[in-house]
Amino acid sequence: MAFKVAIVGRPNVGKSTLFNRLVGRRIALVDDTPGVTRDRRVHPARLQNLRFDVIDTAGLEDAAAPTLEARMRTQTEIAIDEADLVIFMIDAKAGLVPDDQTFAEIVRRKGKPVVLVANKTDVRGAEAGVFDAWSLGLGEPVAVSSEHGNGMVELRDAIAAVAGEMAEETETKEVPAEGALAGDDVDADAEEPAYDPDKPVRIAVIGRPNAGKSTLINALIGEERMLTGPEAGITRDSISVEWRWRGRSIKLFDTAGMRRKARVQAKLEKLSVAETLRAIRFAEVVIIVFDATMPFDKQDLQIADLVIREGRAPVVVFNKWDLIEDREQTLAELREKTERLLPQARGLRAIPVSAETGRGLDKMMEAALATHAVWNRRVPTGPLNRWLEAATARHPPPAVAGRRLKVKYMSQIKTRPPGFALSCSRPEAMPQAYVRYLVNGLRETFDIFGVPIRIALRTSE
Ligand code: GDP
Ligand code: GDP
Repeated sequence: MAFKVAIVGRPNVGKSTLFNRLVGRRIALVDDTPGVTRDRRVHPARLQNLRFDVIDTAGLEDAAAPTLEARMRTQTEIAIDEADLVIFMIDAKAGLVPDDQTFAEIVRRKGKPVVLVANKTDVRGAEAGVFDAWSLGLGEPVAVSSEHGNGMVELRDAIAAVAGEMAEETETKEVPAEGALAGDDVDADAEEPAYDPDKPVRIAVIGRPNAGKSTLINALIGEERMLTGPEAGITRDSISVEWRWRGRSIKLFDTAGMRRKARVQAKLEKLSVAETLRAIRFAEVVIIVFDATMPFDKQDLQIADLVIREGRAPVVVFNKWDLIEDREQTLAELREKTERLLPQARGLRAIPVSAETGRGLDKMMEAALATHAVWNRRVPTGPLNRWLEAATARHPPPAVAGRRLKVKYMSQIKTRPPGFALSCSRPEAMPQAYVRYLVNGLRETFDIFGVPIRIALRTSE
């Protein structure tokens, strides 16, 4: 049976437009006899090499319902029940409205896999709407334009991640450790490059406007360094700047273009999501700049969360430290908050810096390289299973429905970030809390702090 997809969302976000694009032809809107619900219809759809069915929600309206909202609700619920995957669409041009929350709530309650889509991103200023979509709690929004076809590759990938997972469901159940993205495939990294200490470490600096990114980048690769001999020499290409730091080759994502633009135009008020994503995808290590005088803004957390979900090696810096009075106290508070608000990368390195004076930048670079090393860490299978045996003996997995779960074997199947496969008797019954217990043990025993860890549960037979 084909994989079934439902496109849901409030009226006018662009569902029919996407439907038509996926199905590849205009479906005539048939005017049925009022009050008569047409047969549920599904249409074969295609997105690059993916084939699936899309449920035509237009046929599912409960025409007898008194209000538009009630009609939409019925249609939405039926479609979701029938679907293997829900595409939940918002209009990034309009931004989030209360109706989006209503529909998101229906989607959440049904518990089906969801791909969140922010449509109409062809329109200027839609970035803010895309970013808002994060707050629905349905994962990372895929930015598209149904009308113009932008973002279809990303949409394909997002659907494929779930469709592939469902196809394998009887054998493998991916459990995103500590809130990683559902649909993240720990196995996906088939062509994982071997760790090569001579290869440049790719670093990006991101953060909300005015956090001090440009100042920090300038301090790192400023003119002074350019003039201090071949060791510190800089080469620049269209997207990156390369130089050496304590003998290590570093490639920094170059936001110079953006900076120049920002200087000419009025200061960018809004975070550029596209630029942030581009930087994150370029990077291995992402330096997330917080303004220490106003830390933990909602956007700060969204950005940090995005970096972690994308599986990058994060380092937080508290910039403008020169403006902080009670430094010791403030640092303790900020670090405690970092730990509490970003538990998915427990032990996240958080460094106070002043981009303006240059203080702390060496510590920041040390933290970047240390995190990069952990992110690349490979734990040998022997020690891993000796630890697993001890950990499960100390605290055995619980019984579910009267039968005790058994944990058998663990191996590291991936680095960048570390990903582990755990063989156990009934993956589908394994509680998240127990997986968290194991992840914490892994961190402490093998010193894997400050990066996300992913676990895939597999049946042991
Ligand atoms: P539905 O009610 O959710 O099915 O929305 P429709 O598909 O009927 O689209 C509602 C309106 O948004 C129509 O005027 C579309 O032309 C427009 N629209 C849909 N997708 C896009 C898009 O990607 N960009 C822009 N600018 N407009 C779009
Ligand atoms: P961006 O938008 O993130 O690139 O931020 P900028 O680098 O343009 O910095 C925004 C403002 O913060 C500018 O006025 C900077 O001079 C100021 N700033 C940046 N870093 C520091 C710092 O470490 N200390 C202080 N006091 N001000 C800073």
